[in-house]
Amino acid sequence: MKKISILIPCYNEEQSLPLLYPELVKLMDSEPNYEWELMFVNDGSRDNTLTVLQQLRGQDQRVNYVDLSRNFGKEAAMLAGFDHVTGDCMVIIDADLQHPPKLIHDMIHLWEQGYDDVYAKRKTRGKESWLRKRLSLQFYKILQSSSRFDVLQNVGDFRLLDRCCINALKQMRESERYTKGMYSWIGFRKKDIEFEQGDRQAGKSSWNYKQLFSFAIDGITSFTNVPLRISTIVGFIVSLFAFLYMIYVFIKALIYGDPVQGYPTLVILILFLGGIQLLSLGIIGEYIGRIYNETKNRPDYIVREFNGKKE
Ligand code: UDP
Ligand code: MG
Repeated sequence: MKKISILIPCYNEEQSLPLLYPELVKLMDSEPNYEWELMFVNDGSRDNTLTVLQQLRGQDQRVNYVDLSRNFGKEAAMLAGFDHVTGDCMVIIDADLQHPPKLIHDMIHLWEQGYDDVYAKRKTRGKESWLRKRLSLQFYKILQSSSRFDVLQNVGDFRLLDRCCINALKQMRESERYTKGMYSWIGFRKKDIEFEQGDRQAGKSSWNYKQLFSFAIDGITSFTNVPLRISTIVGFIVSLFAFLYMIYVFIKALIYGDPVQGYPTLVILILFLGGIQLLSLGIIGEYIGRIYNETKNRPDYIVREFNGKKE
């Protein structure tokens, strides 16, 4: 019998879990030809998520939970899940019921047909502010045009991954994780299914604009060097103009002499070049910061307990 794992990262989901669990039970009961495993990762929740998980584990042995020592973020929580699931395939699903569990039937069907990565594609983005939609569209455009593989838009973490994909993802231990890019990077046979994303059923989304912005920078810096390339090109063009302008000033001085003038030009040049230098330094800094984090070689997450036992 093939085994299917469901991975659910949870951060402050005490209200969502009692709604999600019955849905998952319905799903598991309607697919009796598979062995099931639920893998909840408690990502350092500040509410009673852990207690809820312990209760579920008490009444249902299919429930497993990894309890992280603090909040490491969804990306790290998912990695903890990848390391602990034992299924022949794994479905990643959000705890807030924004991802309809019903879709998993179709995913399994496609998996049985030989696809390794069946990902759910949102038809609409649900209730989201105009600004957030715009920004995320721009972000995907930048990423898309600057990397050699497709990072898909309107595709999240809701997907089924075959064991071969799980093993590939487990090898990628980088600390600034951008898993959405990794799914594309590892390749394998992919298939999309469309779904209508619902609204969060309980609790509230843990993302704010600041986090989304830093997530976007992570996405770009971990998958492309194009910003570095751009700063090189801009630097090159600016120096070229500066050089031409230098010749012009020099010849002008030779012909017409040099009455003290040109204060505005000076100020403009200083500000302009200073700005570009700071920008380029900032870009380089973003990458160096990541190199620094990577060289520390810290684990991506720390487990407090797995199914109630210390690891
Ligand atoms: N999540 C997590 N760690 C975090 C933030 C979120 O494990 O630090 C989980 C959260 O419990 C949920 C999923 O990631 O199951 C998606 O989070 P959320 O619904 O807040 O994000 P959104 O749907 O707004 O993108
Ligand atoms: Mg959500």
